[in-house]
Amino acid sequence: MKNVLRTSFPSISKNEALARGIAAQFTALLDPTVEELSDIRTAVSEAVTNAIVHGYGHPNGTVTMELTSEDGVVTAVISDEGRGIEDIELARKPFFTTMPEAERAGMGFAVMEAFMDSVSVDSAPGRGTRVTMKKKLGENAR
Ligand code: ATP
Ligand code: MG
Repeated sequence: MKNVLRTSFPSISKNEALARGIAAQFTALLDPTVEELSDIRTAVSEAVTNAIVHGYGHPNGTVTMELTSEDGVVTAVISDEGRGIEDIELARKPFFTTMPEAERAGMGFAVMEAFMDSVSVDSAPGRGTRVTMKKKLGENAR
């Protein structure tokens, strides 16, 4: 059965934990393994942190998270209408960060790619960013 949850929240740092918790609860409905649950929670956390920190960098933006599950596949779409990304290919490279002074490792996209089956990024400078991630859960998942 298909399930969909769409939620929007302000770009305040506390909401990263909220979004990650919601994604975990949503995924838990499908009877995932502990690892699958943790992978999705972590990937969502990275994407939402990016929207808050890089997309906006202030608390007055809106981040949207859309979660869908169908046939054992969980899709998470995280979007912002913030700064956008100039060079997506470069931004996705491990260790690339535009915020080295803030002790960012440049590993967010690498983590998303490692934990999800697919990650796609749509972005334009000044327009915002949309990250779409998918993960197929194992046989036991519904
Ligand atoms: P880390 O995730 O390890 O703390 P990071 O956030 O810099 O460091 P990534 O998550 O891999 O690393 O992102 C790489 C770069 O892509 C960021 O430094 C930023 O320049 C850009 N970026 C990522 N997401 C967004 C976004 N939503 N809006 C604008 N720029 C973004
Ligand atoms: Mg990041």
